Amino acid sequence: MSAQLSQKHPTGLYILFFAEMWERFSYYGMRAILLLFLIDKVSGGMAMSAGEGAAIYGIYTASVYLLTLPGGWLADNILGQKKAIWYGGIVIMIGHIILAIPGGAVLFFLGLTTVAVGTGLLKPNISSIVGELYPEGGARRDAAFSIFYMGINLGSFFGIAIVGYLGERVSWHMGFGAAAIGMLLGLIVFRIGAARHLKGLGEVPPAKIATPESTAQSGKNSVLGYGLIAALVIFLIVLQYTGTIDMTTAQGLAQGAGVIIVAISASYFLFILIAGGLTRVEQYRVLVLIILFLAISLFWAGYEQAGTSLQIFAERHTDRMVGGWDVPSSWFQNFQPAFVLIFAPILASLWIYLSSRNMNPSIPVKFAAGLILLGLSFFVMVAASKIAVTGQLTSPLFLTFTYLLNTIGELCVSPVGLSSYTKLAPKRYVSQLMGIWFVGASLGNLIAGLFAGGFDEGNVMQMPALFNQVAIISTAFGLLILVFWKPIKGWMGGIS
Ligand code: GLN
Repeated sequence: MSAQLSQKHPTGLYILFFAEMWERFSYYGMRAILLLFLIDKVSGGMAMSAGEGAAIYGIYTASVYLLTLPGGWLADNILGQKKAIWYGGIVIMIGHIILAIPGGAVLFFLGLTTVAVGTGLLKPNISSIVGELYPEGGARRDAAFSIFYMGINLGSFFGIAIVGYLGERVSWHMGFGAAAIGMLLGLIVFRIGAARHLKGLGEVPPAKIATPESTAQSGKNSVLGYGLIAALVIFLIVLQYTGTIDMTTAQGLAQGAGVIIVAISASYFLFILIAGGLTRVEQYRVLVLIILFLAISLFWAGYEQAGTSLQIFAERHTDRMVGGWDVPSSWFQNFQPAFVLIFAPILASLWIYLSSRNMNPSIPVKFAAGLILLGLSFFVMVAASKIAVTGQLTSPLFLTFTYLLNTIGELCVSPVGLSSYTKLAPKRYVSQLMGIWFVGASLGNLIAGLFAGGFDEGNVMQMPALFNQVAIISTAFGLLILVFWKPIKGWMGGIS
């Protein structure tokens, strides 16, 4: 592990580490069996088609990240981060308890919605308290985020292993129950630890003092906001009535959600570019943020197929027998957190080593590398699916190698992107733009769900062409960024 990661950190970091570890245990654990449960027709699942199931999965995971916007707002303006994390955790646990009750569709969707609302409240705020522990910023803060990222992936690893096994091999609801227990453990750690080690952090924000200018500005913003909502509602109604999107089906609902997410992000970027009172340098930096937003959305759209098309591939087309034991298909999702745990310290050390020789690749180059690695990982799936269409089970090495490539890609974009957003955002828009970063994850997850619609049982022959599309789009966008890395770096106005 790098020297940076091993320096001394406040105990508060480890409280947040373990609380987030258990929260991610519940999130990724439940997510690992979600699609399988939705499409299961024989063991008490929801008996949906792969297309419907993946669309629901996409709407759920997209909502989780979209709800971080109101979650962040509530913490900033009313609750303070600490309370938001506590209540968010309780809501998540209740959601998993509801899912653990075998009670049909209504109860199931209630549980799913509850988990999404709770996660929106917890997830953005737990990361911002990590930042608050290091008001000085700098390398120690970066190191703290790397440690925190390990906590996320440790939780995710054990969540997929335990919830995945229980869900697939014992009962779906037992798996959901295990997720609830994980969240309970996170709450206990947070309750005991926060009182002692996070004193004075993430408290209720001081009342904001309104000036005549700020009141007039927020009045104008509200009018713009309501105008946007009205236009969006009308647009969706038109799409429904012209038959462009049928929002009475799961897939149509997911497409509608996509329109909403794209509209929110596009109008937000336009708003700050035009009416945000930015200097020329800041405007160029926002342009870079837009490019990174498109890149990260595309990246997650491929990467998050771990829970959709790649999960289906693991279940239906992969030889999972090891020493006479049939490995649960959800366990394949575990390659991502496992590879993060192995490679995060290696990549962090590589960046430090390259920096010491003045050779650290710039942010656009790292993003290009991430997208190209993702593209290559899907070329591996093209090869695998060409074997699968002949009716043979494929070697597990294909998925292993796919995950190896796309996880190294993740380490080039995800931690780097998070910190670049905090650095490139004009100061007064930092928290909002952090929210937009999560909207990128939301959009990506939604596309990952919609894309897997092509993986219905009857469509097996399409698989190579579908994987090929992801591979080509991602590699091409990566190459485009690579070609233009110099001007993009120039627009960053001296930030690296
Ligand atoms: N795997 C990371 C987490 O769970 C990043 C996920 C994301 O931003 N899409 O926090």
